[in-house]
This record gives sequence, C-alpha cells and structure tokens, in this order.
Amino acid sequence: MDFRIPDELTALRQSFASFLDREIRPLEEEYAREFWGEAPNREVLAPVIRDIRLRSAREGFYAAYMPEEAGGQGLSVLGTSLLVEDAARSGMRLAMAAIAPPNPAGPSPLLLKLPPHLWETYVLPVASGEKTMCFALTEPEAGSDAQAIRTTAVRDGDEWVINGHKHYITNGEHADFAIVFAVTDAEKRAAGGITAFVVPSDQFRRGKLQWNLSDSHPAELFFDQARVPADHVIGEVGMGFFEAMAFLNSGRAYIGAQSLGLAEWALDAATDHAKTRTAFGKPLSRNQGVSFPLARSKADIEAIRWLVYHLAWRVDTEGDPLAIMGDASITKFYSTEEAYAVADRCLQVFGGMGLMREGPVERVLRHLRMLRVVEGASEVQLLVIARTLGL
Ligand SMILES: Cc1cc2nc3c(=O)[nH]c(=O)nc-3n(C[C@H](O)[C@H](O)[C@H](O)COP(=O)(O)OP(=O)(O)OC[C@H]3O[C@@H](n4cnc5c(N)ncnc54)[C@H](O)[C@@H]3O)c2cc1C
Repeated sequence: MDFRIPDELTALRQSFASFLDREIRPLEEEYAREFWGEAPNREVLAPVIRDIRLRSAREGFYAAYMPEEAGGQGLSVLGTSLLVEDAARSGMRLAMAAIAPPNPAGPSPLLLKLPPHLWETYVLPVASGEKTMCFALTEPEAGSDAQAIRTTAVRDGDEWVINGHKHYITNGEHADFAIVFAVTDAEKRAAGGITAFVVPSDQFRRGKLQWNLSDSHPAELFFDQARVPADHVIGEVGMGFFEAMAFLNSGRAYIGAQSLGLAEWALDAATDHAKTRTAFGKPLSRNQGVSFPLARSKADIEAIRWLVYHLAWRVDTEGDPLAIMGDASITKFYSTEEAYAVADRCLQVFGGMGLMREGPVERVLRHLRMLRVVEGASEVQLLVIARTLGL
C-alpha cells in the first residue's frame, strides 16, 4: 500500500490553490454580502458564477475530470476529489463554482454516451463553461425510490415524446438542457425500462424555484409533449439506470471530498477562534470542554479523508462498479454525517457568532445538512451497506 499523493497531483493542487487565491478570492470578498440576506441574490451572482466557470475552464480545472476529447484533462477520480476538497476547504462560497463535480450544472460523464455528432451541442460547450445542464431524475412521487418515476417517453416516428414533472432539480433555473430519466417500458422499469434522454430547454417549462435551507435552490421542470430526436437517447434505450450507475461511485467520492473540505475549513476556523477568543480570563482553548470536541473533530476528519481517498483510488483502479458500491455508500454516509457533526461542534465554539450568516461556519452547517439528504439520503446508503452484509 502506498498512501502518498502522487507528485503530479500535488503540483496540480498547488496551481489550483493559486488560481483560487488570484482569481476567486477578490470576487469572494466583493460578493460575500450577497449571501448574508434571507437568500443569496441570484441576479447578481449568476453572471459572477458564469465568469468563474469560464475562467476555471480556460485554466483547465473546471471539467478536468472529463476525457481530453470531451474538453477535459482526463484527470483521475483521486485528482478530482483532491481539487473538490481544496475548493471546499478554501472557505470561499464561490470556489465551488470553479470545479464542476459534484455540481450537476457541469458536464456529466453520462453525456459521453451520446453519439459523437451531438458533442458539439451538448458536451464541449458544457466542458468549456459556456453552457450548463441539469440532472432530472427526482419527481414528487419518486425520490429515494427512483424507479417509481412517472415521467414517460413514447416513440413517435423518428422522435421521442416526453411527458412528466420533475422537482428539486439543481440548476433547473438556468440549464441549457437536461438529462431526463423517463419510463419507456412500464413492466421492466429499473430492469431495462427506464431511459435517459438529453432534452434542450426549449422543450420544457421551468416551474417555481424551491427555496430551502441550503444556498442552492433547485427548480421544478414540466415536460408537456416534449419532443426530442431519436438520437438524443443516452446510451441504450431502457438502460438509463445502468448507464448512470457507472458514474455513481465517483459521484459519491466527490460528495465525500466536498464534505471533507468543508469540515477541514470549519475546524481550522474554530481552532483559530478558540486560541484567540478569551472568556473567564483565558483563551477558550484552555478549556477541555472546547479543545476535546475539536480534537475529536480532527480524528473524524482523518477517518473521512481516508475513506474518500480510498474510494477514489478504487474507482480509478478497479473495473467493476458493482464491486465498489458498498464502499461508495459507506463513504457517502460517513463523510456527510460526520462532517455535519464536526461543523456542529465547530459552530458551538463560535457561540453567537457561529449562528450569524456572515460567520464562517453557519453556511457550512446548512450545506452539509443538505448533503445528508441529496444524491441518496443517509438511510438509502444504509440500505446498500446492509445489503453488503446480506441483510
Ligand atoms: C437542494 C436539493 C437539490 C437536489 N438536486 C437534485 C437534482 O439535481 N436532481 C435530482 O434528480 N434530484 C435532486 N434532488 C432530490 C434528492 O436527491 C431527493 O430529495 C432525495 O433523493 C430524497 O428523496 P425525497 O426527497 O423524495 O425523499 P423520500 O424518498 O420521500 O424519503 C424521505 C425520507 O425517508 C427515508 N427513506 C426512504 N426510503 C427508505 C427506506 N426504504 N428505509 C429507510 N428510510 C427510507 C429517506 O432516507 C428520507 O429520509 C435535490 C434535493 C434537494 C433538497
């Protein structure tokens, strides 16, 4: 076993850190206030986020995980996880816009299953940051039990006709197109009856934004006799779930890496605060009631780190996604739950300031709370882990 990070990835991290400091930190300072009100000001932030995406893509970071022919660098899952961790650890809200995963606005590797003549429209402009997309699976009646979706797609000559209603779709508000999952065979469903399509935004209607405790506000999407040409199927008809499964494990590594970076940021901030804030005539850190929760958080962070790096390494080095699913669920479950616990302890160290919108930990706690639900809630991860135990 070799636990060292390869030299080329260390160099890449350094160059990403310097990009974040040089190009994103000034924007973060200028726009931080937009996040302090009741909700982030989307009209002000949307062009800033677009600008960050374009700058990061130009420097080769934004979609680095995509293959070179698809506008990326072919960066490994471990390398991508390290960049995601570093963006989260920077403490800059805007840094996460500089790296596509785990944000579904960036190019999904699922798009690589489109025929080559469609890459100019749907793959390259998303990798360059000029266009964005969204991933539309969840419906009001089907979340954790995704195979229960009701959206249908019916073949009509050279086209597919899609009808249905999706909700909670991240970047649904701005996406130029959606990856949409629809039932094409109601008998087979998950076992060969659900198909993934790419659907341009002129074929769907955006419903209301869905305000929630995180800073990311998804949207409803309505498909009413939406039409796409037959070649807009991703991979094979009926195999949508299987196609998506191939990328599920790397997605879990990126969520874990984001949780890791956020927990590290919170711990660094709380540690500094504990050393400098005084109460009862001495620094807070001189009380074990403060130092022990922080010491425990450090231990939790190291456990998260090695779960994430190990999962990323397995995805990079092993061919069978099914063999890794148990580890992927353990990583998603443990990293989000424990990072949330870390952030909660860190918030406590800040006292009242911990609860303030402009404080360093409040939005981290809210974001981590969201990560415990999305992309397979914690209970769904436990179901998968239980299955690996034969339960
Ligand atoms: C901010 C945000 C962004 C999102 N972005 C996207 C997106 O871009 N694309 C997309 O397709 N979806 C997205 N989602 C949807 C998200 O993935 C779902 O909310 C999530 O999968 C849970 O589904 P649900 O909300 O329908 O909850 P439900 O499935 O109704 O579950 C409710 C609760 O019951 C638990 N539960 C369910 N089944 C079991 C069981 N068998 N055993 C034990 N417990 C169980 C769940 O864990 C959960 O705690 C987003 C959601 C949010 C809030």
